[in-house]
Amino acid sequence: MPEPYWPKKKGSYTLADAARNSSHARLRCRYCKTERWYLVEELVEAFGSIECDDLVYGRRWRCRKCGMEDTIEMSLENPPAANLQEIRLRRLDGIVNIRRVLWRDE
Ligand SMILES: [Zn+2]
Repeated sequence: MPEPYWPKKKGSYTLADAARNSSHARLRCRYCKTERWYLVEELVEAFGSIECDDLVYGRRWRCRKCGMEDTIEMSLENPPAANLQEIRLRRLDGIVNIRRVLWRDE
């Protein structure tokens, strides 16, 4: 069953909540209609348990296909097994921690 919306009250729905109820997240560009599928549990791994709203609206996602910014919308879904074969999942391939060196003058 598609479950496209989550409660809009601030602080009410995190990615961890989403992972309990939904297996997949569909991120879709409103402009060019490209969609990509992710596993919700991997979004938790990548971003921590932030709020769903913050993931979509707080990160200024840019669509890699058309280059537009802030056009990505997310829906949480549990695709039926029969549909899973048609879905091209974007899997988490690794997390790189970048080491930055900061200097100060004295
Ligand atoms: Zn796009």
